Amino acid sequence: MNIVASVKNASKQYKTGDMLITALQPTSFDFRRNELTLIIGPSGSGKTTLLSLLGCVIFPTDGEVFIGGELINGLSQKKLADIRLNNIGFVFQSFNLLAPLNGLENVMHPLLLMGISKSEAKQRAEEALIKVGMQDRMKNLPKMLSGGQQQRVAIARALVTDPSLMLCDEPTAALDTKSVSVVMEELKMLSTTGKSVAVVTHDLRLKQFADRIIYVNDGVASETPPEDENFH
Ligand code: ADP
Ligand code: MG
Repeated sequence: MNIVASVKNASKQYKTGDMLITALQPTSFDFRRNELTLIIGPSGSGKTTLLSLLGCVIFPTDGEVFIGGELINGLSQKKLADIRLNNIGFVFQSFNLLAPLNGLENVMHPLLLMGISKSEAKQRAEEALIKVGMQDRMKNLPKMLSGGQQQRVAIARALVTDPSLMLCDEPTAALDTKSVSVVMEELKMLSTTGKSVAVVTHDLRLKQFADRIIYVNDGVASETPPEDENFH
């Protein structure tokens, strides 16, 4: 199947005290294999909310979310955790590597959580690190690596389980210009290997890497850019 994830009229409201915040208006999109989708918009516009819906981290207030054709609304936390582990790879702005573990051990971690043997996990982790060009720094602790290198290890960790969907929240926000290109090239390469890659950003310069762009403005997500000059 070509579509790996869908939101259908999915919206999200947050209640804080007696305040109701609409983070995302009803939104419908399909996310396909071999596609890098950029989700672009200013801070507070609802980008992370959309990504969190796709990542089964939050439930929509209304509407539906499908992963691999399965409706995720109302599934148990245990089932959701399984879906996340088997279908979805996450990459964050702050890398979120485990500090006491070296690169190889960080990438092995999700496989060990899946119950895969240590020797197989090691082999697959090495292959993932080779894919992102980090084979020479596998034994380094995160603190010995540059931001760009840490993010490439984080990408290897996200792809080692062979997820159909890669969700990246501001993956280049903490990087220097050169590392931004390297990391985006890696994500672009992954999108050509049958995965659907979604990248949240507020950086318009990343447009050049996108197969398609979803603009998010004040909780409204659309493939048509808003008139707002901040989007051009
Ligand atoms: P972005 O990622 O584009 O910066 P978010 O999706 O994080 O935007 O947030 C959209 C809106 O929802 C913002 O107004 C934010 O303050 C609000 N929001 C996000 N998460 C929560 C939460 N857990 N509780 C209450 N409000 C939230
Ligand atoms: Mg955000």
